[in-house]
Amino acid sequence: MTSQSPDIRTSTEAPVRAPSAVPVDDAVLPFEVGALDLRGRLTRLGPVIDEILTKHDYPPSVGKLLGEAAVLATLLGSSLKFDGRFILQTQTDGPVSFLIVDFQLPDRVRAYARYDASRLKPGQDSATLLGKGHLAMTIDQGPDMNRYQGFVALEGGNLEDAAHEYFLRSEQIPTRVRLAVGEEWRGGNSPKHRWRAGGMLLQFLPKAPERALQADLHPGDAPEGTVAHTVAEDDAWVEGQSLIATVEDVELIDPELSGERLLYRLFHERGVRVFAPLPLRAQCSCSRDAVSTMLKSFEPKDRAEMVKDGKVVVTCEFCSSVYEFTPDEAGVE
Ligand SMILES: [Zn+2]
Repeated sequence: MTSQSPDIRTSTEAPVRAPSAVPVDDAVLPFEVGALDLRGRLTRLGPVIDEILTKHDYPPSVGKLLGEAAVLATLLGSSLKFDGRFILQTQTDGPVSFLIVDFQLPDRVRAYARYDASRLKPGQDSATLLGKGHLAMTIDQGPDMNRYQGFVALEGGNLEDAAHEYFLRSEQIPTRVRLAVGEEWRGGNSPKHRWRAGGMLLQFLPKAPERALQADLHPGDAPEGTVAHTVAEDDAWVEGQSLIATVEDVELIDPELSGERLLYRLFHERGVRVFAPLPLRAQCSCSRDAVSTMLKSFEPKDRAEMVKDGKVVVTCEFCSSVYEFTPDEAGVE
């Protein structure tokens, strides 16, 4: 082949460089595998998830589940092009009856879970902790804008399953999600415990929509003998799914493995482009003013019932900050 061949196109896009070996924690790294029409995002959480989970001293299994939810919220919410809010919450009948991740774009994350300690047992996985119910995703673009809410049933699966179901039913975008949370113990005289979390979202976005057709997950309540709906998936998406399936939990949370190296490991044969990482931080948006406004929105009778020992004390469920008011300040008559 000669360099004059008219079939050779020189790329005018971003220059090729080696993947950085420097791990970047607390960020979402967008990427693209152009040859396969794949787009994705990789989240790595270090100090951010450690701060969120340590503040509440969650039992390990609950911390792991909430960490998975936080990663999922950053993978989904970071695609929004405005500075609003992405809220992911579950309401279920399992030992963790409620959890919420509030991702205030562009970078603030807070989260908490409610659980029944008496129902926790060793060895329960995230799906068991959730049980059955639903997962809701809310996009809030501010007081003058419409809120968007998407729901997906949780029927005994984990959050990865719920995300797959959501994208299949609602968005109809072929999507795979991987989530991982782990505890890291650092040796020494006083062993130090740290939470870490990571995840990846991969989507198939071909220009021709017919290439994105997907088979139904299962025939559901169809009468016996019904032939399951089968669609031959596009080769590029088959390859994308098999690549993301090889990602191990430890690779998603390994503090020594950079996100770029992980992406290179997966997609180097096809070529992968990474974009600027989006940094994240653990920060609550509560304030004394906001709590005061909330108190004033309550019925006078409810406000009066909150007075204990001559004061009204409100604890933020997200960050455990405590706000104290005199009955007068709290608007109690
Ligand atoms: Zn707070």
